[in-house]
Amino acid sequence: MERIVILGAGESGVGSAILAHKRGYNVMVSDFGTMAPKYREELDSHGIAWEEGGHSDDLLNGASLVVKSPGIPRTAPIVKKIDVAGIPIASEIEFAGQFYSGKSICITGSNGKTTTTSLLYHMLKEAGYTVGVGGNIGTSFARQIADQEFDWFVLELSSFQLEDMHQFKADISILLNITPDHLDRYDYQLSKYADAKLRIIQNQKEEDLFIFFEDDETIAQKLTEMRLPMASASFSLNSHSPSALAKVNEGHLDVSLAGRHFVAPLASLPLKGRHNWCNMMAAVLTTLRVGMSHRDILKGLETFEAVAHRLELSRILDGVSYINDSKATNIDATRFALDAYEQDIVWIVGGTDKGNDYSIIESLVKEKVKAIICLGMDNSKIVAAFQQSGIPIVETDAMEKAVAAAHGYAKENDIVLLSPCCASFDLFQSYIDRGNQFKEYVNAL
Ligand code: ADP
Repeated sequence: MERIVILGAGESGVGSAILAHKRGYNVMVSDFGTMAPKYREELDSHGIAWEEGGHSDDLLNGASLVVKSPGIPRTAPIVKKIDVAGIPIASEIEFAGQFYSGKSICITGSNGKTTTTSLLYHMLKEAGYTVGVGGNIGTSFARQIADQEFDWFVLELSSFQLEDMHQFKADISILLNITPDHLDRYDYQLSKYADAKLRIIQNQKEEDLFIFFEDDETIAQKLTEMRLPMASASFSLNSHSPSALAKVNEGHLDVSLAGRHFVAPLASLPLKGRHNWCNMMAAVLTTLRVGMSHRDILKGLETFEAVAHRLELSRILDGVSYINDSKATNIDATRFALDAYEQDIVWIVGGTDKGNDYSIIESLVKEKVKAIICLGMDNSKIVAAFQQSGIPIVETDAMEKAVAAAHGYAKENDIVLLSPCCASFDLFQSYIDRGNQFKEYVNAL
């Protein structure tokens, strides 16, 4: 029996283990840290061997493949050991992909992956397709395909997941944008990070489709260096773009593909903000390609509910809209959030800084923001960046205080926007915890 080692016992590792076990492999799961009890129980119930708190010396003996969790960096000692032993490493998606015979839509980018993935899943499902969703979100791809068949699978892929993908091919690939993020894993080189993202198109052939944001300079630059074997379609926020197949024209989404045309007024669609126009353009190009009718595409867009913690309307109180954008953990996401509203904004910002350059949003902040509420253990960088702006700045170190301060500044028709530009780990367990606390204190006002 072929022996396979699964490194990392999170959702993707345990999903891979179950799939491998069902397909007749001899499986060993190894986690350097502590495993969640539910995963231990699950592996036991399938009779799959596992270890935690370290990797045993003979772990790799006889293994023909290692499936590695995307969270384990290439520099980890165990990865070096695997390389020395000459054992191939695959990601969960790569491994599971060989057992999947349906079609796939793969989505990557620095921002917008979850929104676009969830939107596409919703649209396809509403139109009656048998569709799965996974990758970076929810239940793992491996676990789902272990005993189900799908027409389409929508996969959200991070650059880490893409790194260990070699043979896998998307029928439709989407590259939303490339802006600096996670550069610590790429020797602080944007080009290396971009190369990882561009793996989304690897192995695609003439009959496949690559959808990308043509206004993104990093993408545009990379594409000049490449010859694309597959069909491609780009979207743009420039209504005069001569090359884009998807644009926004006079308040309408305006998308054409292979002789088909889709037009819909933005005002009737629930996703708001220019960044969401991008996500919707990518989704419409995809669903036209899938062959969905105009009516189904429109219905899918109209009935989509925004994903939690992404420009999520939490409450309207005394004419003030409280918006939870806790997932905005980098400058680019916050730039789009600030840009999404016409009204004055009371902006809650701060947390663990990942190397932000606030000058990128300085003019936008001056134009839109009436008060800055810092929310972090160390707010000095934000204070320094905006103290010359003349905008009032309040420093807080807990969500309850930040919400109370924002409430104090907000007047009828204003927006209170939690869009922190930063990771959450200084004061919260995660961006979800941060967003939930925001909603809790807003609802208690
Ligand atoms: P990801 O899964 O890539 O992190 P999300 O859909 O979770 O993306 O959104 C993360 C943040 O980025 C949110 O604050 C959201 O409002 C913002 N955002 C969503 N789509 C885009 C886009 N196309 N470009 C820039 N920012 C975006």
